[in-house]
Amino acid sequence: MYNPKSLKAEEFISHQEILDSLDYADKHKNNAELIDEVLKKARECKGLSHREALLLLDCDIPEKNEEIFALAEQIKKDFYGNRIVMFAPLYLSNYCVNGCVYCPYHAKNKHIARKKLTQEEIAKEVIALQDMGHKRLALEAGEDPVNNPIEYILESIKTIYGIKHKNGAIRRVNVNIAATTVENYRKLKEAGIGTYILFQETYHKESYEKLHPKGPKHNYAYHTEAMDRAMEGGIDDVGLGVLFGLERYRYEFAGLLMHAEHLEAVHGVGPHTISVPRIRRADDIDPSVFDNGIDDDIFAKLVACIRIAVPYTGMIMSTRESKACREKVIHYGISQISGGSKTSVGGYVKPEEEDDKSEQFEVSDTRTLDEVVKWLMELGYIPSFCTACYREGRTGDRFMALCKTKQIHNCCLPNALMTLKEYLEDYASPETKKVGEALIKAELNNIPKEKVRNIVCENLEEIEGGKRDFRF
Ligand code: SF4
Ligand code: SF4
Repeated sequence: MYNPKSLKAEEFISHQEILDSLDYADKHKNNAELIDEVLKKARECKGLSHREALLLLDCDIPEKNEEIFALAEQIKKDFYGNRIVMFAPLYLSNYCVNGCVYCPYHAKNKHIARKKLTQEEIAKEVIALQDMGHKRLALEAGEDPVNNPIEYILESIKTIYGIKHKNGAIRRVNVNIAATTVENYRKLKEAGIGTYILFQETYHKESYEKLHPKGPKHNYAYHTEAMDRAMEGGIDDVGLGVLFGLERYRYEFAGLLMHAEHLEAVHGVGPHTISVPRIRRADDIDPSVFDNGIDDDIFAKLVACIRIAVPYTGMIMSTRESKACREKVIHYGISQISGGSKTSVGGYVKPEEEDDKSEQFEVSDTRTLDEVVKWLMELGYIPSFCTACYREGRTGDRFMALCKTKQIHNCCLPNALMTLKEYLEDYASPETKKVGEALIKAELNNIPKEKVRNIVCENLEEIEGGKRDFRF
């Protein structure tokens, strides 16, 4: 039954194949020889199968686990250097017809404030986000064909791209909306979206159906096959994710990697990103009622093993995670984080005391973007506001080809330094600016090609003089 090339959800995410893989990993988790073989293959940085990766996830030998974490760190350095791309979510509407039992926007929640932003309100939110320094957004909206039809999403994207406030601009809009039709994906593509993100929540079909008791999202196959429709509609870059805590993490890990293998087998390009959210407290949601919660150590191992299994797929961690957890995990493979996030509808404009409690989940990391940027730099990372690739047509297989050969490095570091410089000029506090200027000066030496370094130096001067939006 298991067939990564099939377009049927139950065949490319075969329950039996997952069970067999879990069994295999459990039997061999103390087999040092086999683990060494998998680690040897992993060092070639071409990725691992779900079964091989599961063996590393389950590995019970302390010295081998040290090797696994060290390899994940190395791969992170090789593919992403010390750069971390910044983004923020923007909640458009929390009207939703679905019944997801882990989300306070579920249709039966009658006491949460329901809100849908008007285009004027979206403009205000975007100006607030631009004034923080953000250039890359992830749009979020509940599923509601009456309140949030595709036309509303498309109009909102147009509004967002159209706002030029002071030196601000949103240059990449990623979209996280419900599974939809090929035709609607085509419209999103035409609207100029970056990545289409859709979390699977859980790959376990039986649990999925229980956790989604009503609404269109109840249909496991329609949801799981959404990325194939998105790609058929011309969207090159798709982002996967599960909500860790709903099901057993080993099952989800295998499902996630099988989904990535399926996309590669059918479309010739794996997922652009993988997100690793963990369930959080929210309005009428108590995370303790879900008994599959994972602690920070398992979370770190999951991140490390995903990094090793799909080296060329970006990994996203949100403000669901605390500063301490982000610090613990980031170096094992995270390439994108959010900062200064609000998870309520209209949350960037509204002062906290007026908050109408429409948030989707409680944020753990409540620091401002400036604080997050400074913290990253003090840890030795370069916060990047780069959005260059899709604007230069480097998407899908073209992007992956550059990424797999590590040539993308030649763009990422210069772009990170130039976009950080823009941030420092326009939005940073004096202390952050001081740390950032020193970091840029030091990192210029790490641009290998002299010609590129010289262009970057010229552009940095131009940025000081007021010009914006240089990119490779
Ligand atoms: S997770 Fe999404 S689809 Fe489910 S209730 Fe929340 S907003 Fe609606
Ligand atoms: S150059 Fe491309 S891959 Fe590198 S940070 Fe920018 S958008 Fe991402």
